[in-house]
Amino acid sequence: RAMSALERALESNNRLALADEANADLWLQDDLRDALVNNELSIQFQPLVDIRSRRVTSVEALARWRSARHGVIAPSRFIALAEQAGLAPELTRWSVNAILREYAPLRRQMPELRCAINLSPKVFSQSGIEGQISAALAIWGIPPESLTLEVTETAVMDDPELSSATLRHLRDTGVRVAIDDFGQGYSSFTYLKHFPATELKIDQSFVTPMAGDPRARQLVRSMIGIAHHLDMEAVAEGVEDATTLAYLAEMGCDIAQGYHLGRPMDVPELLQRLRAQE
Ligand code: C2E
Ligand code: MG
Ligand code: MG
Repeated sequence: RAMSALERALESNNRLALADEANADLWLQDDLRDALVNNELSIQFQPLVDIRSRRVTSVEALARWRSARHGVIAPSRFIALAEQAGLAPELTRWSVNAILREYAPLRRQMPELRCAINLSPKVFSQSGIEGQISAALAIWGIPPESLTLEVTETAVMDDPELSSATLRHLRDTGVRVAIDDFGQGYSSFTYLKHFPATELKIDQSFVTPMAGDPRARQLVRSMIGIAHHLDMEAVAEGVEDATTLAYLAEMGCDIAQGYHLGRPMDVPELLQRLRAQE
């Protein structure tokens, strides 16, 4: 920090600069660059449960950064940092490979288990994402049907034409596509019309309060209807209690994800969970 303040001081008129919090992000960005090279990031998997059979049918891969210097940093923070620093392509390359490397042996034990990967909003403006994903699938011997790509509305809104064309190509290879955090954005319906998705993930801000909030329940019910009318599976995120799960079952929701069904976990814990289910 002192070095960075010195650099800025030399460039400024009054030769003064402070190593303050605003510059902490710059340092984090540097450390994130190193973390990617040194494999300091790791992956956890959160189960997605079929509401009718109560079986884990899929897992969502979530990135974790445990930094020696900064402690645990939440993905919402470091992914935004990566984007600001222009590291989104590197992060994507790292995460697609790191995730599939861990998922490949899981799938050999349980061939019907699917895996979902979150794609950074900036990914669609970079070329070659389709090739990168197809190549990674081939390397790890994973059929495209086993992979779901989660994209948020904001990702798609940046450049709807480019992103829906890219996603359509990927869909054509058999890869599944989920709309993540549905309901969070502003113009859901405009792009729902053209968007080639297989799953609609209802944002946790509607799901988590369902048990005590009739309006939240009505909204979730409507969103499940939208998903089904458009031939998509309805997935509820942020299921934190049994009452919510019971409501979702009654509403005909297909898949549930949330702390009530399982927190994000490491592979050994996930394996235990999957074995228990067998
Ligand atoms: P997301 O894709 O919507 O992931 C779900 C988030 O909700 C995860 O937070 C998960 O831990 C949390 N969650 C799951 N069940 C519950 C619940 O019952 N209650 C509550 N309160 N929260 C629940 P996490 O792991 O902090 O990830 C936050 C976001 O960061 C993700 O949201 C995703 O958009 C992004 N992200 C995570 N990993 C990656 C990655 O590898 N690449 C990219 N591009 N984005 C990632
Ligand atoms: Mg997600
Ligand atoms: Mg989500």
